[in-house]
Amino acid sequence: MNSSSLFTIIGVPSFRPLGSLRASSQKESKLTARLYHADNICKIKFTVGTGFKLVPISEFKEMPTIERRQTPTVMIGNVALGSAHPVRIQSMTNTPTADVKATARQTIELIEAGSEMVRWTINDDSAAKAVPEIIKVLSDKGYGSTPITGDFHFNGHTLLEKHPQCAGALAKYRINPGNVGKGDRHNENFARIIKIAIENGKAVRVGVNWGSLDQELVTDLMNKNAALKNPKGFNDVMYDAMTQSALTNAQYAQELGLGKERIVLSVKMSVLQDMVAVYLHLAQKCDYVLHLGLTEAGGDTRGIASSSAALAILLQQGIGDTIRVSLTPQPDVPRLREVEVCRHILQSLGLRYFQPTITSCPGCGRTSSDYFQYLAKDISEYIKQKMPLWKKEFQGIEKLKIAVMGCVVNGPGESRHADIGISLPGASEEPIAPVYTDGKQTATLKGEGIKEEFIRILEDYIARKYS
Ligand code: SF4
Repeated sequence: MNSSSLFTIIGVPSFRPLGSLRASSQKESKLTARLYHADNICKIKFTVGTGFKLVPISEFKEMPTIERRQTPTVMIGNVALGSAHPVRIQSMTNTPTADVKATARQTIELIEAGSEMVRWTINDDSAAKAVPEIIKVLSDKGYGSTPITGDFHFNGHTLLEKHPQCAGALAKYRINPGNVGKGDRHNENFARIIKIAIENGKAVRVGVNWGSLDQELVTDLMNKNAALKNPKGFNDVMYDAMTQSALTNAQYAQELGLGKERIVLSVKMSVLQDMVAVYLHLAQKCDYVLHLGLTEAGGDTRGIASSSAALAILLQQGIGDTIRVSLTPQPDVPRLREVEVCRHILQSLGLRYFQPTITSCPGCGRTSSDYFQYLAKDISEYIKQKMPLWKKEFQGIEKLKIAVMGCVVNGPGESRHADIGISLPGASEEPIAPVYTDGKQTATLKGEGIKEEFIRILEDYIARKYS
């Protein structure tokens, strides 16, 4: 059997495959595929040699498992990174670190939004001096358990030596190998930071960035490439340079005595295809823990779309142990947006769950009014507001799936597929809204108060299912 084959269900003409049937290995004998039949989505369970069985989709709520690339575990403070742990979310403040109040305030916002690690710029003495002070403020306010990373460029070796309290308070140091110094200075400065990391038991991220790639390495690789009989293309040499910069520095850190279980790598680029290519390249060559990010992704919609696409391609292949979405600040958008986007990416991929998923349609000419848009928005806000309480009371609530749909075309199907769903009447439909729970129609709402009644049914359902 091929690992990716399209199957025709002979003798069952009314079934239409929704996608290819995939097996992870030639030996695998039990396969599943999604099929569409009338208004009912089913999956087929296919066992080689024994035929198939159709099972309603409601029995297949879990997403396919993503197999993570195997890595060691790296502890960043009390947060474990690596293939044995969830993909972690991190973010970075944009306040001057020397401004203790502003940095503490923004760090708390990011933590409350779900950032599991936060990075601060440490660019001068005043920033380094502020580090222990801000960490004390965070501890006093009950946020002291979130690890803080110091972001160092050019002068990290001197700042860390000069400010031992800063070195001791941070959980991880980010070193950019392109900004540590040139020639012999590079190794010397790099070694000084690694020595401090070892003495303090800290982790290090060797964070290569396209915009500050080690130019001596690039020139050397370009020259060597030009001398080849069949030289590689420019992009391939760049990917080699990014990968080599990360790996040679990580290996040097190990030679200096820093264990692999204290090293994280990243190779950020700003063009999606380049970023994906270089991470794929790196992932094949090592088993270090990887931090993923599309650098300088831009702001607002473009930044969100390109970061989501880039991260999803890699995460789907099991690559990546911690992620950051770097968004250019927009005047009216809070910094925590980058954390929210990370959570949505991980939840969309089924890698982690943070809050119930709402499936809602975009609406179209069949939608009789914008009522369903408001209903979807109101339900979403209701859930957001109730989640802190629900999380304490109802274990597993974050995996709940709710559908709010605009008409009969996809409304009943999506509602049955969800744990609980409502299909509002479209234009020229009878003004009733069937409600489905666990794949079956269990109520029909009409008239005023549909939202309130649906929320009551939702609350009852949650209390029944998750208590
Ligand atoms: S479910 Fe109905 S209203 Fe919603 S997008 Fe589809 S056809 Fe339009």
